[in-house]
Parts: sequence; C-alpha cells; structure tokens
Amino acid sequence: MLSKGRYGKYGGQYVNEILMPVLLELEEGFNKHCPMPSFQEEFTTLLRDYGGRPTPLYYANNFSKSVGCKIYLKREDLLCGGSHKLNNALGQALLAKAMKKSRLITETAAGQHGLATVMAGNVCGLETDIFMGVKDIERQVSNVKRMKLLGANITPVTSGSGILKDAVSDTLREWTTCSRTTHYLMGSTVGPHPFPEIVSTFQSVIGEEIKEQVLAKEGKLPDAILACGSGGSNALGAFRPFINNKNIRLYFIEGGGENLNADNSAAVFKLGRPGILHGALMQVLQDEDGQIKPSRTRASGLNYPGRGPEISFLCEMGRVKSCYAFDNEVFNAVKIMCKTEGLLPALETAHAIAYLLNHPEEFGEEEVIVVNYSGRGDKDLETLMRYFYES
Ligand SMILES: *Cc1c(COP(=O)(O)O)cnc(C)c1O
Repeated sequence: MLSKGRYGKYGGQYVNEILMPVLLELEEGFNKHCPMPSFQEEFTTLLRDYGGRPTPLYYANNFSKSVGCKIYLKREDLLCGGSHKLNNALGQALLAKAMKKSRLITETAAGQHGLATVMAGNVCGLETDIFMGVKDIERQVSNVKRMKLLGANITPVTSGSGILKDAVSDTLREWTTCSRTTHYLMGSTVGPHPFPEIVSTFQSVIGEEIKEQVLAKEGKLPDAILACGSGGSNALGAFRPFINNKNIRLYFIEGGGENLNADNSAAVFKLGRPGILHGALMQVLQDEDGQIKPSRTRASGLNYPGRGPEISFLCEMGRVKSCYAFDNEVFNAVKIMCKTEGLLPALETAHAIAYLLNHPEEFGEEEVIVVNYSGRGDKDLETLMRYFYES
C-alpha cells in the first residue's frame, strides 16, 4: 500500500459521509486488535482446529504430466466450508467481537461467503443477517438452505437487477443505520478502505503456508503462482508474501464468460476501465456513460463487475499478469481435473486450471507451479450436470 487506503490511484473511500467515522473506527479497531498476540493466537487456533489449517500443498502428479511441468495445488477446498472464504470470515468475526459488536451483516451471491459468515458469526456468538439478490436466492437453493439451518436471517434484495452488486449497495446502506452494534463483514478485497487491506491481511495465511510448504518439498520458492478471482481475495492471499520477489510470476485468471463481448463476459481487466464501485476506485465494467454493466460468467463467485483496488494496481503495474478463461474451457478443465486427480474443483477454481491447460508453453518442464485451488465443486453440481448431460 502506497498511501492510506490507496494502491496507486486505486482504492480510497467514496462513501456517504455518515460512513466516514464508521470506517475510521474500523481502521483503528483493526490496527489495534489485529497485531495483539491474544488476537493472533485466537485466530490461529480457530483456523487450525475449526477450519482445518494448514491446508495441504498437494503435488498433482497426473495433472502435472498432462500439462508438462510440476504442479502443486494449494488445497483451500479442504478448508471447512469448502473454499478459502472462511479465513477472512473468521478474522473479521473475531475483530467484530473485539470491537464489541453484536451482529454481522453481509451480502452473498453464490452463498459461499454468506455461509462462511454465519459459521464465523456463530463461533464468535454474533447474530448474522445476509442480504441476497432475489435472483441469486432462486439460483442458489442449497446454500440458502444451509445458511438458514445455521441460523442466518436472509433478506431478499429486489433493488436494481436483484443480484450481487445490488445486494452490496443495500448492505452498505443498511450499515449506515446500525454501525454502532453491527460489523459489515466484507467478503472480498473490495469496498472502501480499510476493507481491502483487512481482507487481504486475513487471507495472506494462504501464501505464508505456500511459502513454507513449497520450501519443504522443493527446497526453493515457486516459479509461478496462479489464482482465479473477481474481487481478488484468494489471489492476493496467495500472492502477498511473494509480491516483492520479482522472479516469481503471478497470474490472475478472471471469468471470460462465453466470449469477449462485454454483454457475455466478466473479463473486467480486458473490457473495463477505472471507475467507482462500492466505495472505491477500481477497474469496473461500465458502459460509455459510466453506468455499471453486469458481468456474465457461469462461475457465480467470479460474477462481479469490479476488480479490487490492490489487484487492479498490481495488474496495471504489470506485476501480476491478468488472464481469462472462457466458460467452455473451464468446463473442460473441470473434467480433466476430475479424470486426472479425482478432484471436483469449483467452477471458479477451474479458471486457473484452464489457463494452465491452454498455455502450457508459458511453463517450463522443470518449473514449480502452484495453483491456488480455491474451492470444491459440490456447489456447482447442478450447473455441471446440465452442461455435460443436457446440452
Ligand atoms: C468467492 C470465490 C472466488 C472469488 O473470490 P475472490 O475474492 O476473487 O477470491 C474464487 N473461488 C471460489 C471457490 C470462491 O468461492
């Protein structure tokens, strides 16, 4: 971070004035509590005994052969809940508790972040309210059921197009009315400062583990790390400890959707430009008048029209290579991972796998590559069955 809340020109706090003192309180709370040994110990213990950390770094022998380099998978799919999202949810729930809040609010699209939030909320003794677009509620029946069983209150969002970007706007609005008792548990490295910094800090446990594990297995740091993403939280979590080491190539793979027409894609780095969304300046899909355009991809976790400020900056600088994979390539990658390793990846995760499969020439035979395997595909069963057996 270059100056407070800015990554190059990106980031900042473009919010309603009422939220300014709330964001300051959050920043001060984070700076005070997060470095405390008691906080770190509680966080580490929960990540280990509740979440299942450290997650393994798995050498994917068969898959490596099919690409032609040495590929390790960082198994975030084995974290409790089935994706990397719990790292951040536990960190922020502990922070909310330390700041004497009694309630969490958040939004969710596929339901993965909503699920992680209610899990973390329950562990920390906090009420959880989740805002969810009406369209997403219809599409994500099984995660809605899970969240309800765990005791979350779910508020349907009908404004705008009834999808994630509208739910984020509604949650920010709700927060202005209840911030004294309530923490907004932001799900990715997006939103106004200090959210991007908080989320990326709590997720960087992924990269710290990668560093230790790959050194133990290979006696050297990796040559390249790949991660899928939209807001950027699993990617930044994996990249953070390696950003200053310029020899390590970093790849960020976004949702190409059906094709590179802005109406059919979520390739924001290809099709977007800088703009303000949800309180921060970042790369955003927008029309000529600056109206936000909805993104499109079959991977609901990548279906967000903005890229967080830190990943926007790193890609603009050329430190991280921004890439994309199309939906059909992603489904093919799922099939190959199933066949070679017996693992069913999340559609989001399969974007990183598809990139490797489509660009083997970028990776040398002796190179050590790490894929941040962000989640498991159980949530995508319906979509996968329809794609493979009904079309
Ligand atoms: C939510 C999600 C993502 C995308 O979110 P980021 O904040 O960009 O990491 C990627 N993979 C999985 C499995 C997810 O659930």
